Amino acid sequence: MKKTLLVLALLLTNLSPSAAAPIYAYPVVGCETIYGKYHHDYPASDIKAELGCAFVAPIGGVIQDVSRKDRWSGKTNLGQHRGGRSISLIGDDGVRYYGSHLSKVMKGIKPGLRVEVGQKLGEIGTSGSARGIPRPHLHFGISYQTEPGDWEIRRGVVAPWRYLDAWKVGKDRSPAKAVAKAKAKAGR
Ligand SMILES: [Zn+2]
Repeated sequence: MKKTLLVLALLLTNLSPSAAAPIYAYPVVGCETIYGKYHHDYPASDIKAELGCAFVAPIGGVIQDVSRKDRWSGKTNLGQHRGGRSISLIGDDGVRYYGSHLSKVMKGIKPGLRVEVGQKLGEIGTSGSARGIPRPHLHFGISYQTEPGDWEIRRGVVAPWRYLDAWKVGKDRSPAKAVAKAKAKAGR
């Protein structure tokens, strides 16, 4: 009987609107981070962190692309290899999120996998073109959806700092409108 009541109480707690989980989460957990408003060449955020801090899902969604191998070479500097170890996620808001230069992709993270907001996807590192950079950072990109493997759009089309500012203090702010605008502007 006592057990039944406890289960019931837990169920009610989960159902109450005040206990609703946030839609968005700040994508780096476990260390101090710094990011600016500027990114070279295209809109994105380089979130300076520490080696091994967690890269977490900024929203629930489905994994699109995963790169577990660092194929970058300074000699060729190919665009599709610059991210090193990376993950892209199609969020429940229809927006694509991309994190790269990871040291590690967590076990089981693969295309098509459903993940929840705040779930650890990988660890911050210096893979790809961040090799040799003293302070590890997460390259974080927000974009509209394109076909898997399209590295050019996924690296970023909308500046993430406004959203990072909100998520950092627990506010849900969606980039969906800004992303739709960028998509229309690009004629996609
Ligand atoms: Zn970057």
